[in-house]
Amino acid sequence: MRALVVEDEQLLNKELKEQLLEEQFTVDTAVDFPKAETLLIGEIYDLVLLDLSLPGGDGLDLLKQIKSYDKDTTVIILTARGEIDDRIKGLELGSDDYLSKPFAMAELRARIHAVLRRKFKINDNEITIGKISLHLDHMQVYYDKKPIGLTDTEYKMLRYLFLNKNKVVTRIALSEHIWGNKVDDRFSLDFINSHMKNIRKKLANSNAPDLIETVYGVGYKLAAHEA
Ligand code: CA
Repeated sequence: MRALVVEDEQLLNKELKEQLLEEQFTVDTAVDFPKAETLLIGEIYDLVLLDLSLPGGDGLDLLKQIKSYDKDTTVIILTARGEIDDRIKGLELGSDDYLSKPFAMAELRARIHAVLRRKFKINDNEITIGKISLHLDHMQVYYDKKPIGLTDTEYKMLRYLFLNKNKVVTRIALSEHIWGNKVDDRFSLDFINSHMKNIRKKLANSNAPDLIETVYGVGYKLAAHEA
């Protein structure tokens, strides 16, 4: 999944990026309005952390743009104390949540989990299909309660399939969600294929059924009809 951090305080920007990397997001950052605007025109993000007072423009204008490009992009507004009016305006313009500065990183991560649950219409941090379960909060996949040792990239791929279960996910969408748009297509598509092979091998080694259907020439589908 892809995230954009828009925050002009350099240290906070860096820390937010690190938190998102730990949550297995692919992260872009902007420290002012023009950079954020340029990124938002060219890229599609699942999540944007948006500071409102920015050099070069108003974060609320960015929020309007984000929602006009793709209303499914989740936006969490970061507000300083006393900016209650902006927070309300933000919620009216379609932001999904807000955090008042200063906030604990644990709170940020809990909010991220909450908005992802809402976005993907799941009830808790555990997505279960038959005996396979994926835990969004501690980033682990289990079969029959035993952990399946996945690499970060394999986890990201499987999480994306879980969140979009029963839908066809294209290889291009998968690679964009893992590496962003900055990699060569053919290179990344080969990587997707080989990672998928490894995921299937690991599922098979754990005696898990093969729930991942290959949609020829397009991508994959996690078939969640329970046996
Ligand atoms: Ca600011």
